[in-house]
Amino acid sequence: MSNDLSHVVSADKAHVWHHLTQHKPYEVGEPRIIVEGQGIHVWDQHGTRFLDAVSGAVWTVNVGYGRTEIGDAIRDAVVKLNYFAGSAGTIPGALFAERLIEKMPGMSRVYYCNSGSEANEKAFKMVRQIAHKKYGGKKTKILYRDRDYHGGTMATMSAGGQDQRNEQYGPMAPDFIRVPHCMEYRAQWDLTGEAYGKRAAAAIEEVILREGPETVGALCLEPVTAGGGVITPPEGYWDAVQAICKKYDILLHIDEVVCGIGRTGEWFGYQHYGIKPDFVTMAKGLASGYAAIACCVTTEEVFEMFKDDPADILNHFRDISTFGGCTAGPAAALVNMDIIEREGLLENTTKMGARLIANLNALMEKHAVIGDVRGKGLFCGAELVSDRAAKTPVTEAQMGAVVAECAKQGVIIGASNRSVPGLNNVLCFAPALIITADQIDELTAAVDSALIRVFG
Ligand code: PMP
Repeated sequence: MSNDLSHVVSADKAHVWHHLTQHKPYEVGEPRIIVEGQGIHVWDQHGTRFLDAVSGAVWTVNVGYGRTEIGDAIRDAVVKLNYFAGSAGTIPGALFAERLIEKMPGMSRVYYCNSGSEANEKAFKMVRQIAHKKYGGKKTKILYRDRDYHGGTMATMSAGGQDQRNEQYGPMAPDFIRVPHCMEYRAQWDLTGEAYGKRAAAAIEEVILREGPETVGALCLEPVTAGGGVITPPEGYWDAVQAICKKYDILLHIDEVVCGIGRTGEWFGYQHYGIKPDFVTMAKGLASGYAAIACCVTTEEVFEMFKDDPADILNHFRDISTFGGCTAGPAAALVNMDIIEREGLLENTTKMGARLIANLNALMEKHAVIGDVRGKGLFCGAELVSDRAAKTPVTEAQMGAVVAECAKQGVIIGASNRSVPGLNNVLCFAPALIITADQIDELTAAVDSALIRVFG
């Protein structure tokens, strides 16, 4: 390690408070500093190269590292005009909004902000405002699902289905109501396939009827639950969910923060299931982490509700996101989208995702510890259990050991992390959408030997 980087390591140890990190071990150990990235690889302070199978730890760098053309676009944009907010537009802001809406038939308006949590907060605020404006203060309740995650701010935590994340931060905000998850592997009903999907949707309707449909404004769901265990929806689920929303006049908010911008092989996860959302929120892969950008996208019908009475000064969305006026985000997002199109990355995602699932299924034949393999496109998971019949989760220490063994072999993978009590046992794979067949095989070979080392 060069002297320069020794200083970086000590500066990091002394002053950076890392996300999701227990810092005590850092007092004796050395933090990993990621110094450089290129394609699907990153290098640490020792010059060790890793295949990054989680796109920057949290599924963000969809087009891979080292894209100079995104850097150039950001530079060009910020040198011309770095920022302007409020009622004025900017060139990158207008052009990216137009481009994004082309990919989202039925949607119409783009509200810019900075993070996935914030985009979800914007949708929640719009729902509340509609409740006050159109329903006389009723319909303020927002339904969210067990095991889903929508962010780390107070309101998004209140819509959080992963109890351990919330335990120490109560009280939560009122009128966020939980509905059951739809995970067939850990079935709540003695059904399978479409019957299971319909039953899981009916469970949402039961909650709506219990709460009173006149009090429920919106339902917020991930199309494929990401951090909560890579939960793909059962057959028939989404059709039934959509029908329930329609029946009770409930707005449908799809959280595409993870699934959006190609991760599942379509531009958006909801597009696999024929869903017609009222709100779509997105962040992570939108500019692949080259700039901070998030969007809350709505239909024209939603937008119209905020401008139908211009004489009333209160009749608009009374909200601003300061950094929603940065041009770096939309400038980067435009090129990010160009790259996905030009390089056929949606198609690659579908193909490589199928290869990843096939490889993981082959590992499941070999390793009894893999209880289930799930995924959509390049968001895949393998659930580890110490007893297949009882589906007993492996321990967190064992999960940590598998991740550490993979890292020793030069592959960074993820694991669900102390968020769902007793069920933090899903290995998680979300590589950049540029991954090749050889790299998929390298990734699963590392998992294979890690499982042998940890479980024999
Ligand atoms: N929604 C989902 C589905 C997420 O996975 C996340 C982040 N992991 C968020 C929202 C929050 O995004 P952010 O961290 O950018 O606030």
